[in-house]
Amino acid sequence: MPLTIYDTLAREKRAFEPADKKRVTMYVCGPTVYSYAHIGNARAAVVFDLLYRMLRHEYGENHVVYARNITDIDDKIIKAAQETGQSINEITEKFAKIYRDDMGALGVLSPTLEPEATGHVAEMVALIEKLIAKSAAYVADGHVLFSVDAFDNYGALSGVDRDEMIAGARVEVAPYKKSAADFVLWKPSSDDEPGWDSPWGRGRPGWHTECSVMIDAKLGRMIDIHGGGQDLRFPHHENEIAQSACAHDGAPLARYWMHNGFLRMGSDKMSKSLGNVVLAHDLLKDWHGEVIRWALLSAHYRQPLEWTDALLQQSKKQLDRFYRLLDEIEFSDQMDPPPDSIVLALCDDLNTPEAYAGLHELRDIAGQMEGRARIAAIAKLRNAGRLMGFFHAKPSQWFRGADSDAIDEAVIDALLKERSDARNSKNFARADEIRDQLAAQGIIIEDGPQGASWRRE
Ligand code: AMP
Ligand code: ZN
Repeated sequence: MPLTIYDTLAREKRAFEPADKKRVTMYVCGPTVYSYAHIGNARAAVVFDLLYRMLRHEYGENHVVYARNITDIDDKIIKAAQETGQSINEITEKFAKIYRDDMGALGVLSPTLEPEATGHVAEMVALIEKLIAKSAAYVADGHVLFSVDAFDNYGALSGVDRDEMIAGARVEVAPYKKSAADFVLWKPSSDDEPGWDSPWGRGRPGWHTECSVMIDAKLGRMIDIHGGGQDLRFPHHENEIAQSACAHDGAPLARYWMHNGFLRMGSDKMSKSLGNVVLAHDLLKDWHGEVIRWALLSAHYRQPLEWTDALLQQSKKQLDRFYRLLDEIEFSDQMDPPPDSIVLALCDDLNTPEAYAGLHELRDIAGQMEGRARIAAIAKLRNAGRLMGFFHAKPSQWFRGADSDAIDEAVIDALLKERSDARNSKNFARADEIRDQLAAQGIIIEDGPQGASWRRE
């Protein structure tokens, strides 16, 4: 089914046509690993995971190459090292691992490639030398700066006007810049900062350069899709575009650009600098990863998403309703292709609200069926959800989900055992009493051919 995506650069939805159907390439700017990812960062990871899944579905699992970088050189990392007394390596390795684990818990598949900026400094130096040779960059006061005047199309992606940028002070003003919009490709490092030798002295690369270089090194000169959060359009992606085009004789960096909208707390963007963050790592202690994923995909990815506790509660309730049906086929491995209605919605620029409506409809249909048709309908529902990264939990486990103030599992099991003994000795009064006692705590007992089992309401 053909995929249509909204291309931020073209400012319209376009039919997606990869340059090579046997090797579809996508790159998403990944985390700077100096602390925990917040749920806004997780939105970007989950949205592009869904895109990756759809591309795999369309072109085959072995025909999509997805690179998501790890930014492991950055002033925030240096600061974290100074503050905690840990080495840069300790910090970046620790938080890269936590990031992978937390995103994995949200059903995010590992990208094909996870290049680290520190592994590509030599290529960054080479790119900068090339830009200097082409007069698109200049050395000033130990820094190398990209000259924005060298690229006519600067601003085309974000639509940000040059004068507006400067007036809004959205670019760093520094005395050594020829033009205020020029950005740093290389900066000097003091002795206690990490640094690499270069023709301009010991220093380190600026942030924007790593993505241009890793795309070229890992995926090729021009990739199919470049993604990231909306905040990266300017200056980060604008700068990636400019330096890649200038280094590569005008060849565009990516054929399609995609950006996810902000996750908000009230009317503000969630961000570390505002201090209004909710960490994915913390949420995962209280909520199943699929609940968080469901909440993150509940709005269309280009729309803002307001994060509330109520959203999580609703998401849990909705998933419970699916899992109640999935419970009936826990042990069936019937695998059908996901239904067209869901694939169609997702192929339309990842229209998750419509895909959710499709899932609810499939659930209603399955719920009204009986016998073999019911089993088949539930299996179809399961495959539809799995396409989006849901319904991977065991239904029996799902309803035993962690709930800190709920009755302990060991206590429930002991009561179930007592109830079974009571029934065997025909003490039905006691058996009923136990059933009522558990029901009062939201525990439903279900008697089946293999004995009694339980689930939370
Ligand atoms: P950062 O670590 O800030 O560079 O962000 C990593 C990714 O998360 C980038 O793609 C950002 O655009 C994205 N991001 C950051 N904050 C938010 C937010 N509040 N909502 C959605 N995406 C975000
Ligand atoms: Zn980037």
